[in-house]
Amino acid sequence: MVNKVSDEKLDAKKDGDETEDEWAKWRQAGVIAKAALDIARPMVKPGTKLIDIVESVEKYILENASGIAFPCNVSLNSIAAHYTSPLNDETVIEDGDLVTVDCGAHIDGCISDTAFTIALNPEHESLVKASVDATNVAIRMMRPGAKLNTIGALIEDTIKSAGFEPIKQLSGHQLQEYELHSEKQVPCVSGKSEVKVEEGEIYAIETFASTGSGNVTDLPNPLIYQLLPIRVPVRFRGTKQFLSIARREYKEFPFAERWLAEKMKHATLKMAIRELTQKSALIPHHILTEEKGELVSQHEHTVIVTENGHERTT
Ligand code: MN
Ligand code: MN
Repeated sequence: MVNKVSDEKLDAKKDGDETEDEWAKWRQAGVIAKAALDIARPMVKPGTKLIDIVESVEKYILENASGIAFPCNVSLNSIAAHYTSPLNDETVIEDGDLVTVDCGAHIDGCISDTAFTIALNPEHESLVKASVDATNVAIRMMRPGAKLNTIGALIEDTIKSAGFEPIKQLSGHQLQEYELHSEKQVPCVSGKSEVKVEEGEIYAIETFASTGSGNVTDLPNPLIYQLLPIRVPVRFRGTKQFLSIARREYKEFPFAERWLAEKMKHATLKMAIRELTQKSALIPHHILTEEKGELVSQHEHTVIVTENGHERTT
């Protein structure tokens, strides 16, 4: 009896410690992504090259975390998501631009994902505020038992009452170890699903407000890719080189074409991407854009769902 009790105590202690350790890595990933965005913030001004922001953010994450969970995205004006600099990107922030910076870090697979938008034209402040408000409203709802669709409806409502449209194709997402876009989604619009939030889950809550229709389309020439966890026979030696670098350095996480362009010849890289895409082993994350002339703002934070609510890590 005595032994049994002490065993149970030991088990409880062990479980407790494991849980604590688990959250410690998620929290640390949050601290690092937040600090990385703080480096980017003062750089958002006319004349800054996008690649300087991207490289500063990624350098900080690489030096302080186990790795990058998503290449640093800098989205200008009508771009909603998935733009990261190609090699030698000459794109510069102009007067009056709307600038979004989005980044993610991981500690041993425990992920953080966070983004802000800055309006260099004060007239766009209300658009920025719409996504900040929508994300904050959604985060306040995060607790065990909350219906993801109710949260989506609230996001839609918040953005529409500010006079803008939510982006329908982009959602918040559950995070799991080494899995940036896990099964559950937090839509930016209302819907029919009955899926609920559960204790111990982690989510990236992100909302997008648009001056346009809220529909985004893919641009050609993606800059971000992700390997699928499948093995395919490959023909070219360059593809084998691509796979060995990507699997070793980026694990299951999406990566920038730029990172490989620094390590491989351009033609070889393009051939490897073509072969792996054709064999469905590599998926592109296309740049998503609103109509020309429209503007999109984004705001994102990572939260852990606790017993009674949530804890924000970013
Ligand atoms: Mn993000
Ligand atoms: Mn995200």
